[in-house]
Amino acid sequence: MAVRDILIHPDPRLKTPATPVAEVTDELRALADDMLETMYAAPGIGLAAPQIGVMKRILVMDCVKDEEAPARPMVLINPSVVWSSDEMSIYEEGCLSIPDQYAEVERPSEVEVVWTGLEGEERRERFDGLWATCVQHEIDHLDGKLFIDYLKPLKRQMITRKMVKLKREKARA
Ligand SMILES: [Zn+2]
Repeated sequence: MAVRDILIHPDPRLKTPATPVAEVTDELRALADDMLETMYAAPGIGLAAPQIGVMKRILVMDCVKDEEAPARPMVLINPSVVWSSDEMSIYEEGCLSIPDQYAEVERPSEVEVVWTGLEGEERRERFDGLWATCVQHEIDHLDGKLFIDYLKPLKRQMITRKMVKLKREKARA
């Protein structure tokens, strides 16, 4: 397993829709392991493959907040939302590709998601609370969409300018 580099916005790969996974292979399972390790190391609660420059429809997440509770690492391959609640929730979201920037985003409170599991099996689950927000945020990544795309243009441009500056400083360091 290895911790991979996380792409920082702006990057064209973060704006590009990812390709469906055709087959669950050992190589893909190794990628999922790397993604989980990268997510936990960050630390974060979700990571989508395009964030490490791999343009495949796969995401990992673990939204267990209680440090006493057992971890619940999840790997979702080719996930899609098949139902969403009319009821909406607002969460302050952040993103490993947009470090230290947070903003409120409104999304459906509950979603039902269908995906392929690591053994190639079909999985289906209904998510609520933080899990619902996280899975929608990560599926957005697979469609080339970032949480800042939900913000007003002025706020989005302000965050993007900060990220350009951050990347310039990182490149110099
Ligand atoms: Zn993100």
